[in-house]
Amino acid sequence: MKYEEATAQDMRQALEDGSTTATDLLKEARRVIREKDDSIHAFVEVFDSADEDARLADTMIQEKRATPLTGIPIAVKDNICVKGRTVTAASKMLEGFVSPYDATVITRLREQGAVIVGRTNMDEFAMGSSTEHSVYGTTFNPHDTTRVSGGSSGGSAAAVAMGAVPLALGSDTGGSIRQPASFCGTVGLKPTYGSVSRHGLIALGSSLDVIGPLARTADDAALLYQAIKGENKKYDSTADLFEDAATVKNSRVIGVPDNLDAVGVSQETMDAFNAALQALQEKGYTIASVSLPIMEHAGAIYYIIQPAEASSNLARFDGMRYGFHKDGDDLWSEYRETRSAGFGDEVMRRIVAGTYVLSAGYYDAYYRKAMDARRAMQTAFSNALEEVSVLAMPTTPDTAFPEGARQDPIAMYAEDRLTLQANLTGLPALSVPMHTDGLPRGIQFISGYNREETLFACARDVQQR
Ligand code: GLN
Repeated sequence: MKYEEATAQDMRQALEDGSTTATDLLKEARRVIREKDDSIHAFVEVFDSADEDARLADTMIQEKRATPLTGIPIAVKDNICVKGRTVTAASKMLEGFVSPYDATVITRLREQGAVIVGRTNMDEFAMGSSTEHSVYGTTFNPHDTTRVSGGSSGGSAAAVAMGAVPLALGSDTGGSIRQPASFCGTVGLKPTYGSVSRHGLIALGSSLDVIGPLARTADDAALLYQAIKGENKKYDSTADLFEDAATVKNSRVIGVPDNLDAVGVSQETMDAFNAALQALQEKGYTIASVSLPIMEHAGAIYYIIQPAEASSNLARFDGMRYGFHKDGDDLWSEYRETRSAGFGDEVMRRIVAGTYVLSAGYYDAYYRKAMDARRAMQTAFSNALEEVSVLAMPTTPDTAFPEGARQDPIAMYAEDRLTLQANLTGLPALSVPMHTDGLPRGIQFISGYNREETLFACARDVQQR
């Protein structure tokens, strides 16, 4: 078993038959990070505490209490709280902040005996599509280190792609798991909104945020998703979990939106996408064209609702009780000094935009209208998913771009034009690598609420080719 290429399932097997231990796997993870991460920069910290995790895992294995994730090295995005470890959302604002508790997803991973290797880079407060907005600097693409890894969960995607870990956690508010997965050639799942607890995730847009897995294979992604999903007793919204397996099994009709040209997908990506569809047809799927003109308005809707929610969520960072603080002459100047020195440019831009669209005179013109359009989009997608079992489209308009190529914020926002819809509707969506020469490109599947199984099945069929 070559560590860099092994899946979590391979590692599980090796742990079961005694040919490796959790402690050895952790050593391997650290070796890959040492050898490769200087040029990639996926990790912002490798945890010392992982040794203890590995010891506990080895004990679980010896005592025959192992679960599918026992001893498996996992990386965690820097906006998910791990007790006793620094967590910063890649912002100066949370400099030196140590989490007093475990996020619910971490509690679940600990119960399973997973080994939390370290925290991964991201765009500040998960705003961005390249990790270039991180206070720690950019994470580069393991397939071409002059290019970005995507974002905001670029560190988690690169950590998996470079072979440091078979599994990583990211968060997805508008595409932040799927877009870097597509850029780095990994699988990435944005689960159904509310199916995974957000407790302990540093909030960005609370009606959009969801934690999900990045992995090398669909089966591994499914494994991690199974481990983290489920009801949560701590205040946040978790969806009732129901599955209608009968419908899932019988229907193999893939809907393809008829307006991908209007959304602006590159020719090379369209070619790879059409080849992937062709192969799926050969596997017995039927392809149907669907009309979803509202897809094209996702950016206009998202970039009102998301900044509105972000501006409210980020109001708590005032530097008074934790994180970064700057002195001032009085309370107001302390707030001003702290917040203007603590937040980066993109975060400021969202706070200003969000505050504006929520302000008394503009609320109806912007926020209310965006919410109406969001509901219209939910209806359109739900209707489409009554006709087909799954929707398919490329994950991103094109491949990973060179560092510095998206200086204009609007150009950066345009990277998300195929991923935002799943967040606005709450539907689950998965990106899986298509077969291409050159840089990776992802195909994205979107299914009905809590129908992640359908997504995994499609992804398996793409990967088996
Ligand atoms: N790139 C999008 C944004 O900047 C989505 C980010 C995310 O999903 N966290 O908001």
